[in-house]
Amino acid sequence: MKNVILLGPPGAGKGTQAKVISEQTGLAHVASGDLFRAALRNGTELGMLAKSYMDRGALVPDEVVIKMILERIQEPDCASGVIFDGFPRTIDQAVALEEALGQQGSGIDTVLYMTVPQDVLLKRIAGRQTCKSCGATYNIYYFPSKREGLCDVCGSELYQRSDDTMETAQNRLDVYFAQTTPLVEHYQRQGSLIEIDGQGDVSKVTEAMLKALQSLSDD
Ligand code: AMP
Repeated sequence: MKNVILLGPPGAGKGTQAKVISEQTGLAHVASGDLFRAALRNGTELGMLAKSYMDRGALVPDEVVIKMILERIQEPDCASGVIFDGFPRTIDQAVALEEALGQQGSGIDTVLYMTVPQDVLLKRIAGRQTCKSCGATYNIYYFPSKREGLCDVCGSELYQRSDDTMETAQNRLDVYFAQTTPLVEHYQRQGSLIEIDGQGDVSKVTEAMLKALQSLSDD
């Protein structure tokens, strides 16, 4: 198994699953949202530019995100395969990725499409909290930390992403349904889409994904 895309709405659990799958399979975890947040923390021009879109729940322009991702996949850790999280989000991004991988003699092997009902997505996004120190994630509705605002693993403070408010969450979902869902049909036509039920236990969802990836490597 080489290149895998995790496709699904914001709040489906792509980040959580991509992290575990990366650890278990050795695929490099490439998350466009994480790269933008890191750029913002580092005060770069890219970070500042992305922030103006992220704060509104809008998509960063294609050319900006495509350039960032194509540079990222040149790094040595990506040579033996990547799990893409949050990218591509538009048809133009998908085409640019296919072209770049094609030039390297590879391509997209499979797309895991995570489905979760909309009402659950809103609560998952608006309730999401992350540890400042170790990155562990919680949810005030579904999976609260034992001590409010503090991480169970390392005791550090938890924070909420500035784009994880109810209002921005709704906008991000609207943007997803308008701009990203056409990708479902795109990958369905290519025969590379596998639907995964994103509800329920994190470990059950991981298991279903690993099984889907395993069945492909067996073919
Ligand atoms: P995420 O962490 O994937 O939820 O992304 C957070 C925000 O980063 C999104 O709401 C967008 O503003 C921006 N972003 C992340 N990935 C992309 C992408 N592939 N295309 C455009 N904007 C993106």
